[in-house]
Amino acid sequence: MPPKERVKIVEVGPRDGLQNLSVHVDTRGKISLIKQLAACGIREMQIGSFVSPKAIPQFKDIREVIAGILDLKGITLTAMVPNLQGLRDALKSGIRNLVFFFSVSRLHNLHNVKQTPEESIESLKIIKRELSFNPDTDISVALATVFGCPFELQVKVEDILRYVEAVAAIGVGRVTLCDTVGFGNPKLVEQITRACMEKFPEIHFGVHFHNTRGLGLANTLKAYETGIRSFESSIGGLGGCPFAPGASGNVATEDMVFMFNEMAVETGISVQKLLDVTLYLQDILPDVSLNI
Ligand code: ZN
Repeated sequence: MPPKERVKIVEVGPRDGLQNLSVHVDTRGKISLIKQLAACGIREMQIGSFVSPKAIPQFKDIREVIAGILDLKGITLTAMVPNLQGLRDALKSGIRNLVFFFSVSRLHNLHNVKQTPEESIESLKIIKRELSFNPDTDISVALATVFGCPFELQVKVEDILRYVEAVAAIGVGRVTLCDTVGFGNPKLVEQITRACMEKFPEIHFGVHFHNTRGLGLANTLKAYETGIRSFESSIGGLGGCPFAPGASGNVATEDMVFMFNEMAVETGISVQKLLDVTLYLQDILPDVSLNI
């Protein structure tokens, strides 16, 4: 028998899922959620962002959350960092895997991190240099609004490729192409993922889709068919972006895992256990409508 195809599913619920909620999930609730998700077989998870608590109050307790989960084994825990200060805070907390993010759309980036994309690339250079003094650390880049922007609508493929090139030149080997608002469709997904993989075969690309127009799984499948093997999703379909008006939830992890498992593509994750976690989500987020 030929070896089974495998995909990596990166859970982003504790970060992307929670960041847009007006309700604060307490520290114990976050730690429990992360531990339960890890027990489902998830091998990589974004657990929060080192951003100003004024911008996103949900992450004001990120240090305490990390202290409660650092003993988890067999899972890569990542945190987002927007700048050098965020990076230093993240390293102090004990987290070793970072995600730097910026938007390929100038206006969205200005709204989100108050920088132009070019300024973000300069910040990434500084961060990468700082990381070179910290062994055992790793950084990837999440490119936002790749499949459409609420302010600039369509983003040009050549602009996306130019930013990936800049990121690759800094020495980052992993890039996630994010559909921050859910404007992507399978044809666009194929065009952009193929262009990126062909031009940068040395880069590991992942994708991150939102389900605003119900196309999350269709986009996931198209990306898989194009050759992508790393997918971000959020338990219960939680998610949004505080600076992307109208963005709704991420593709639900349980839906994505169900699809791949049923296609005999190995995820290593139990759908039944994920469904049990969605019940816990209902307990801690009684007033939030979940895609479950
Ligand atoms: Zn997102």
